Amino acid sequence: MKRSKSVLVTCHCALNANAKIYPLASVGGVFFDAISTYIQSGCGLFQLPCPELSYLGINRWGMTWEQYDHPNFRAHCRKILEYPLVQIQAMFQAGYEFVGIVGMNGSPNCGVTMTCAGYTGGEICSQNNIAGQVKALRYISGQGVFIEELVAMLNQIGLQPELLAISETQPK
Ligand code: SF4
Repeated sequence: MKRSKSVLVTCHCALNANAKIYPLASVGGVFFDAISTYIQSGCGLFQLPCPELSYLGINRWGMTWEQYDHPNFRAHCRKILEYPLVQIQAMFQAGYEFVGIVGMNGSPNCGVTMTCAGYTGGEICSQNNIAGQVKALRYISGQGVFIEELVAMLNQIGLQPELLAISETQPK
């Protein structure tokens, strides 16, 4: 038996950059350089669902943390995490090691230490308001909404894996 019993949990687009908002995607599909060390060490990869793709589809607009920080979207995150968490819990109970969770820094949802903020609300159709919204956009320290929900759910089952991040602005 060769199984390592060692698992790396990844955000969806770490293994499928096609899920990102157009035209983001600095790799064709897999952020291989960021995870190759784990693959070579024998880790299995456990891919989480993408909360934005399943909520707003592939042609969604880029949004900020404030726009996703809404009870209904948080409920969506918890709902799509329900079965992945059952699988994670089953492996955890069987003694598997979770070496970490790979998020995507800069994302309003999968940021681990950096997310994006700045939405000020209201119509964006007037020229002035478009410029104002763009000007207000910025990266801030903190977790994305999906990672916040994921960490809370993992803590509930006694798991506190290390959080790792790929940088959306400077991917390796
Ligand atoms: S960072 Fe998260 S929400 Fe954004 S595309 Fe990747 S998996 Fe989806």
